[in-house]
Amino acid sequence: MQAETEPLKRGPELAPQWPRRPSSVLAGSREGLAAVTAALTGAVGSALAVARWPSGPMRAGTPADVLAAARTALGMEGIPTEGMGAEAALARIGKVLVEYGLHLSHPHAVAHLQPPPLAVAVAADALASASNASLDTYDSGPSAIAVERWLIGGLIELAGLGAQADGVLTPGGSMSNLMGLLLARDAAALRRGIDARRQGVSALPGPVVLCSELAHFSIQRACAALGLGEDAVRLVPTDARRRMRPDALAAILRELPPEHTPLAIVATAGTTDFGSIDPLPQIAAIAAEHGVWLHVDAAYGFGALFSERLAGKLHGLSLADSVTLDLHKLGWQPAATSVLLVSNASNFSALEREVAYLNPVDDADAGYEGLLGRSLQTTRRPDAVKVAATLLAHGRRGLGDMVDTCHDLAKHAEQRINAEPELELVAPAELTTVVFRYRCSEEPEREDEINGAMRRRLMETGTALIGRTSVRTEGPGSPERVCLKFTLLNPTTTPEDLDALVDAVLAAGRACTPRLQKGAA
Ligand SMILES: *Cc1c(COP(=O)(O)O)cnc(C)c1O
Repeated sequence: MQAETEPLKRGPELAPQWPRRPSSVLAGSREGLAAVTAALTGAVGSALAVARWPSGPMRAGTPADVLAAARTALGMEGIPTEGMGAEAALARIGKVLVEYGLHLSHPHAVAHLQPPPLAVAVAADALASASNASLDTYDSGPSAIAVERWLIGGLIELAGLGAQADGVLTPGGSMSNLMGLLLARDAAALRRGIDARRQGVSALPGPVVLCSELAHFSIQRACAALGLGEDAVRLVPTDARRRMRPDALAAILRELPPEHTPLAIVATAGTTDFGSIDPLPQIAAIAAEHGVWLHVDAAYGFGALFSERLAGKLHGLSLADSVTLDLHKLGWQPAATSVLLVSNASNFSALEREVAYLNPVDDADAGYEGLLGRSLQTTRRPDAVKVAATLLAHGRRGLGDMVDTCHDLAKHAEQRINAEPELELVAPAELTTVVFRYRCSEEPEREDEINGAMRRRLMETGTALIGRTSVRTEGPGSPERVCLKFTLLNPTTTPEDLDALVDAVLAAGRACTPRLQKGAA
């Protein structure tokens, strides 16, 4: 009763005294949003126009030089007592980012699964930041909840998961994998009558997680974090196309001592280096036969579903119990934009929490419900907003065309590498990566060292940013050799740009071969 009468009395008295400060410093207001757009088009825009953009994907120099110069460009040691004002500060920060940062849209930035983000996504992300909505409760962001639910519904359909499916956004593929394994662990424990959330996992006998030897290292980290221990991970050998061997998986499961608990099989749909996709239908059949949870790590490969041409590669994904997908890879979103999908929403019960100040039961019963119970986070950024804007703007076909173009570019790079006697193609283009190696007949014993030095040289000269990895080039059991990698995620790159990149790689190879240098001198 009091609550109803008090504001009525006090409201009119308080209203005139409401402090009238410059509301444009707070982005949430109408004036604030206008100030954000004005800052970007005004002072920051002009500063970026006159900034010295590097000619390559990043500024030339050693890491020590670049880091020191970027810090100096901030123009202050430590936190200033008095501020310089928003426009000056943004202009200064913008200049630092442009002059000393990374330019992912440069065609020679091909190091990681880190795309140049779409402009529409970045603009929507700024709006999402301005709203500062959170996903945990209804009253911390109703529109953000609606947008995330819309996106999850669309992704479930794309993945071919059924009507019981559900999902949640997470801050990265590593986190999605951790959560997928958490749900798998708790489901397996529950089948043995153990409440893993309360009792921990010490009561769970011999937990085992099976994945291929090329699975992402976040699987090991997740097992460590979940108290299963990294030794719980059993690595299944791969075939010549770098896919998990179902026969080897079946053999390991068959030979597992009865006191062991297989918690999950993790299939990778798009290995980070090679884009290779484990045979999902066969693995799903084995998982079903043994009653083991199937988690598919499609952090990289999921984007292939946008493409009509490549979607078939993910056949069998719909059989997964949980799926990791990263839209900050083949989805052109600014990080972080990852998703965990589950085939059955009830599996999220492992994450449910009732918190008096967030989701009391009577609120939830009345429909005032957020997404706290689907996440390990409490406050959670509305990362679905930028994806929704992207999908509305470009549609599935728009993204699919971008995926196809990057796949074509990878095929072009593959052909060009094959045609160069000094380069050896190590793995063909499955999705959008190509792995190769610089061969050096002058000093074959130093090839590993030379390949590593080439990549650093390309960075230090600001010429190109290429990837690197280690591969058993002569097949299973052979020694790991240092290899180079192109990760092609820029659909505005042309085949000519790639030819120039290969030329730069060859020049770096020659420059890094000491004996060739001596010969030249
Ligand atoms: C990138 C990647 C991850 C990790 O994702 P983050 O978003 O970097 O945490 C996991 N699995 C695979 C196959 C990946 O390529």
